[in-house]
Amino acid sequence: MADRRPPSTITLTPGKRVLFLTKDLDLIKQQLYDGLELQMKDLTVDDLLDDINTDVMTPAWVCFDHDPAEIAKNAYAGLMHNGLRVFRENALKDGQFEVIVSGQRKGTGSSRETAAQCERWAGINIVIAASFAPIHERNNINLGQLMGNHAMLERLQAGESIALSEFTAKYDPVTQLIVEHGGLFPFAKALKAGELDLAPLNTPSRPMTMAERIISRNLVGQPEGQCVKPGDPVIAEVQGGYSHEFTTAQVHTFLAEVYGEAYTLPNPDKFAVFEDHLLYAHHNPKFVPFMDKVQTLRDLQVAFQQHTGVRDYSAIDGVSPGICHQVAREEFIEVGDFIQATDSHTCMGGASNALTWGVGATEYANLVSAGFTFVKVPESIRFELVGSLNPGCTAKDVILAILADHARKELTLNRSMEFGGPGLASLSVDERATLCNMATECSGRTGICEADEALLEWMIKAQPHLSLAEQRARSVKPDEGAHYDGGVHIIDLSSIVPMVAHPGDPDQGVPSDPTNGANISDIGEVAINIAYGGSCTAGKEDDIAYYAQVCQAAKDAGLKVKAGVDFYIQYGSGQVKALAQRMGWHDLFLEVGVKLIDPGCGACIGAGPGVSITPEQVTVSAINRNFQGRSGPGKLYLASPLTVAASAFTGTISSWQDDLFA
Ligand code: SF4
Repeated sequence: MADRRPPSTITLTPGKRVLFLTKDLDLIKQQLYDGLELQMKDLTVDDLLDDINTDVMTPAWVCFDHDPAEIAKNAYAGLMHNGLRVFRENALKDGQFEVIVSGQRKGTGSSRETAAQCERWAGINIVIAASFAPIHERNNINLGQLMGNHAMLERLQAGESIALSEFTAKYDPVTQLIVEHGGLFPFAKALKAGELDLAPLNTPSRPMTMAERIISRNLVGQPEGQCVKPGDPVIAEVQGGYSHEFTTAQVHTFLAEVYGEAYTLPNPDKFAVFEDHLLYAHHNPKFVPFMDKVQTLRDLQVAFQQHTGVRDYSAIDGVSPGICHQVAREEFIEVGDFIQATDSHTCMGGASNALTWGVGATEYANLVSAGFTFVKVPESIRFELVGSLNPGCTAKDVILAILADHARKELTLNRSMEFGGPGLASLSVDERATLCNMATECSGRTGICEADEALLEWMIKAQPHLSLAEQRARSVKPDEGAHYDGGVHIIDLSSIVPMVAHPGDPDQGVPSDPTNGANISDIGEVAINIAYGGSCTAGKEDDIAYYAQVCQAAKDAGLKVKAGVDFYIQYGSGQVKALAQRMGWHDLFLEVGVKLIDPGCGACIGAGPGVSITPEQVTVSAINRNFQGRSGPGKLYLASPLTVAASAFTGTISSWQDDLFA
């Protein structure tokens, strides 16, 4: 990665061009292929494309490449016109553009960093839009891209020079330094070399939430005991993290480019690589043409692990040790840790009273080598759980209710979702992990649960080498009087009923979405073709116990999985599978007609047995998201493990009750 520190005044480079992403796609083609030059003064923001999502910029198949230069060749491959790509291969790069211009909300959709990379590696230095999706904006900042508005572009096109400070004025002081240094890597290098003095925080002593407490005790360059508040820009140490085969190759490549082929990591013991996402990718015919690239991703992950000595969770004989988030909490996340990993469901670790969230490859590569990362302290929202769940209800029903209510109202947006209160004690640690896992679907920053004796017991059982006293001492709880920007919300567990998130009606503009909550008692008879129990959300020990509870009742009633229904159970980790075998559940599942799958991600990302094949098929699934097409073209209802298992035997979406099969 060449030094891309921007000059103190910004001008357009003679010979370089500006690309306007216009709503009129023919105008884009004329700029790309016929040399058409446009001027901002002749256009309005309304003429420009809004809501360009990251899938359009780099569709999933483009992400099988790890080298940003290769990714750049297929920049905007998802922008189609009359069934054809608007941007042919290399079109952005060959056009000699240095500025790209669009309308509102640039970079919506998934958090993939490849979207920002495809522009940068095609030669774009300045990205102009009326507004940016927050994660896409952060990815651009980490890559050192300048972001400005249309008025600034008009001035640049008129030949004016604009001070760099005008581009960075909207940022906090740390983000300003990152952009001034040309991105996160050069910033971190300068910080490590002692070339930067971070301004002291002026946040006075104050009561803090759990997320604030953990960030505060990991501050770098601030006095001991310094408090933080939402919005504070800080540098914080991380205790550990992990990446998987979709992301590790970029981490390895970036580190070699920035620190040289012989780069080393200071603390590899608490970092890990996982082979879990693409193990069954060949089951998806759409992915088959890319299997050589998938193999390259696997090979580079092995190279990274061997080079750095991070913990190795590679597949053995084609079997994964498990889904990264499940294995990480079983094996190395400790109470009170600050953990970051390259996947959006990293927040599942919050069940262990740890602060955990997902980051892009650049941010991860930086933190795994530096040991610290940039954090903008998030706001918090608190869920005070009271009462206990009725039979037939699980934590999945609780989070589906929160999705339908608080998340739909955007109360959870970008906030740390804090779970506590007397009702939390009635939920097992695995159930708490379901709540934290789906903070992602709530568009939250993370989820974190209070610690109690049940958690400490679970920790010592999972990781016997840990000291109980030490784990207790590391635990955090919110201070009396801590402030919650999202408010404090009482959730009476006894009021929760079995729920689904329905697939909406995308053709009528109602997208399939995890916030589409509905009580099962209200949805009528919904016949199913597939029942799927698995994923990081629902492949834990307690989830498997739920499936076993229903399967045992079915067996006692002489039932097998309903004819015409495929019921899949995929274990979340090797440990979960071993438990199922010890308890006799593995054999029970086979006896009643369940199709068992070894640990891994699989159908959850459309890459394994259990995906739908036709748009007419209906699936009830215990996974965490039902975005259209993610797990096949069919209609997907999200539900609890109990509901999934019960439905597999009745053939229609059914909540569980003890006498269901009587
Ligand atoms: S199981 Fe699904 S949601 Fe979980 S990490 Fe794997 S792909 Fe992501």
